[in-house]
Amino acid sequence: MAQMDSTFAKCGESEVSVTEKPDLLGMTLAETKAFVKNLGEAAFRGQQLYGWMQKGASFDEMTNLPLAFRKRLEAESTYRLPRILQKQVSKMDGTIKYLMGMIDGECVESVFMRYAHGNTVCVSCQAGCRMGCAFCASTLRGRSRDLTASEILGQIAVIGRDTGERVGGVVMMGIGEPLDNYDNTVRFLHLVSEKDGLNIGLRHISVSTCGLVPRIHCLAEEGLPITLSVSLHASDDAVRDRLMPVNKTYPIDSLLEACQYYFDKTGRRVSFEYTLIAGENDSLADAAALANRLRRGIHSPCHVNLILLNSVKETGFSAPGRERAKEFCAYLEKRGISATIRRKLGSDIDASCGQLRLNHIES
Ligand code: SF4
Repeated sequence: MAQMDSTFAKCGESEVSVTEKPDLLGMTLAETKAFVKNLGEAAFRGQQLYGWMQKGASFDEMTNLPLAFRKRLEAESTYRLPRILQKQVSKMDGTIKYLMGMIDGECVESVFMRYAHGNTVCVSCQAGCRMGCAFCASTLRGRSRDLTASEILGQIAVIGRDTGERVGGVVMMGIGEPLDNYDNTVRFLHLVSEKDGLNIGLRHISVSTCGLVPRIHCLAEEGLPITLSVSLHASDDAVRDRLMPVNKTYPIDSLLEACQYYFDKTGRRVSFEYTLIAGENDSLADAAALANRLRRGIHSPCHVNLILLNSVKETGFSAPGRERAKEFCAYLEKRGISATIRRKLGSDIDASCGQLRLNHIES
């Protein structure tokens, strides 16, 4: 296993600072009941409270709980439900992009997407990101802090409430690197899949990573049947070093080895994200190099999602045309690599990930 860079905390050593008061939304049903019991209330109050929280309700709206009990909860616990600060709705396909405010004034983005197979929410896991990918708006101001598991869960509860629709899938592809906030990510995965809670099946959840190799090894041991989605974006170390500084610590060979390990441990097909950037990684020679590298490095099923870059004016990168994406995709398929071009949802509200937050910070 590759050595962890000393700038990253080890698994189980989350550096997130949680308030000293118990974090209500971060509790399972059993923990909520135990907490309520400690306050001298009957267990069924815990069940009621838990049900309300999963629906994104405020204390004021929990009308079947006695007022005195709600006041006590307010005084003796923290309820980390995000607040909708801004909302953009696509007229084309109903995709909704949210700017969510956290209780300390931090903000992140979440997206509600409609697919034929059901609704999916893309959540953020950190306020900002410290991974420094050269094409990404989320990292331009670095990372302010990690989100707690409850703040990640809260984005889905609030969106479920706002839309009035069931959320059946989650992608952890918003602001932040999930494996850089490892403990909260794993805790969130347990919470969101609770049968009595949001009950979103782990098989309907994708966790993305820019390639924190030791954390991929840790995740493989968790026994969670999620999809691991690896942001590759280049097949050459020199190019990837330039686009994704994490590659200098964990180069492509070590990353592919970790992906193979992940498959061997979990039996889950790894998916690779490859953002096409004009003049950087989009030539047919790049497609050939990618096919070679994957064939050499991965001996199990995998899939490549090709994404046309969402331009961010600060980065100076642009997307190639759709024709180039089709040629790239066809080339991979011809070489036996399963590939698709990701359908763009919400093109009319298409600020790239992190841009809403950046605008909010700068306004
Ligand atoms: S692409 Fe992901 S990991 Fe890279 S800087 Fe942006 S949010 Fe962070």
